[in-house]
Order: sequence, then structure tokens, then C-alpha cells
Amino acid sequence: MTLETRSFPVLIEFEHVSKRYPERGDALKDLSFRLDAGEMAFLTGHSGAGKSTLLKLIGLLERPSRGSVRVGGDDLARLPRRRIPAHRRRIGMVFQDHRLLAERSVFDNVALPLVSAGMHRQEIGKRVRAALDQVGLLKLERALPLTLSSGEQQRVGIARAVVGRPEVILADEPTGNLDPDLSREIFRLFERFVEVGVSLLIATHDLDLIQSLGHRTLVLKQGRLVADAIPRPPTPEPEPEPEPEPAP
Ligand code: ADP
Repeated sequence: MTLETRSFPVLIEFEHVSKRYPERGDALKDLSFRLDAGEMAFLTGHSGAGKSTLLKLIGLLERPSRGSVRVGGDDLARLPRRRIPAHRRRIGMVFQDHRLLAERSVFDNVALPLVSAGMHRQEIGKRVRAALDQVGLLKLERALPLTLSSGEQQRVGIARAVVGRPEVILADEPTGNLDPDLSREIFRLFERFVEVGVSLLIATHDLDLIQSLGHRTLVLKQGRLVADAIPRPPTPEPEPEPEPEPAP
């Protein structure tokens, strides 16, 4: 008998997952891990290690060559085609280049997933303003993206990812174009979503920053999961012993 000690349900589960691109070989090799509901984890590793591929498997933008990917208890390989749109609505995606529409206002950009889902206008207005409030951009709803700073643009990207109230946010190098202070601000914003029960999986190169934040970190190396731990911030150097007082 196994004892269930987890306090949260498992949201994402990879079991022996491999992904092979015919022309490039294995992008992921025999990968197994779980992410709980309401958990935040970073995904790191050199360029080409398989981070984007892993996120794409969760979003059903790619399919594994072997193994199973489960999200919220659903085995994605068995998900009927008609349930794929509902599966995608469980997920909010944040990209490095935020992919905002330049000629549309901040409001319209954030509203886009709800408009595509056919939501009523009044409900869209309420949800978009709530999402913009969460990222601190309520006053800029009429602005065009190009008039915003790069940190603000990324916050619009995050508002668009959360406006559909997803269970999980997948972020692919969300701070790749930002300086360390803005990156920290963005990660702090992500932490607030964890507090309301959203799970986050964030692919990033920002090793110094994630070490200082102390969240679970999955490390990929050439498609394999080589570490899964909470990094400890570097311990400060011990104070040097004071020189002994000279004897009188
Ligand atoms: P990362 O996000 O860590 O930089 P990727 O998941 O983008 O890594 O890539 C992992 C490996 O898979 C790389 O060797 C890459 O060239 C390959 N790859 C990724 N996407 C494709 C694709 N659509 N077709 C062929 N090979 C791909």
C-alpha cells in the first residue's frame, strides 16, 4: 500500500516521455516528472536542451514519440479532438517576444482569447479589466503596445495569458528581453498567481535570478532531466575571526 502524502492534486504528469524529430533526433529522452496544482517551477538548461519542446507537449502543439503526458488527469494521447480547444483554455502561454498585435489597443490584445472563445462583450470587459488590474496596467487599456516600455508589454502578455483564468501558465523565456530589475518584477508577478492556486512552469536562462528566488528548478541537458530540486541561495562568506587582542 502506498500512502498519499501530497496536499495538492497532480496537475501535470510526464511518464517516460521522449520526443524525436525525424530530421533532428531526440529532443526529449525518457522524461518523468509531476507538477502539482498551485506549484511554481522553473525549467532551465542550455539552448536546444528541450525546454520549448516540453512546453509544447503540454499545450498539445506537439505530440510525444513515447510515453504519456497527463494534464488534470487527462491522458493527452486519448483526448478526443473536440476537447482540444477546452484543453488549450486550461493553459495560458507567455512568450519572450509577447506577440502583441501592434495596431490593437492593450484592451483588445488582452481580450483576444475571450473574443475567440465567443464570450459575451460585457463579461469580456469585466475579465479584461480584472486581468489588467492584476498586472498593474488598468490605466493603460487604451494604449497601443508600441507606446509601452518592454516590461509593460510583457505584463500585457501576462494579462492576456491569465484572462481566461487558466489552471496553468507556461512561460517560454518570459524575461529574455528584460534587464534584471524588470525580470525580477515579472517573476514576482508570477508568484502572485501561485498564491491564487495557478500552476506555473517557466523556461528561463536567468540562473542567478531563479537561484535567489528559491523555487523548484528542473534542469534539462540534451533532452534529459538531470536535476529537479530547490536551489539554495549561495551562503554568505563567514565573517573573519577577529584578531586576538595583544596581551597587555
Ligand atoms: P530549447 O527550448 O531548450 O532551446 P528546443 O525544445 O527548442 O530547446 O529544441 C530541442 C531540440 O529539438 C533542438 O535540437 C532543436 O533543434 C530540436 N527541435 C525543436 N523543434 C523542432 C522542430 N519543429 N523540428 C525539428 N527539430 C526541432
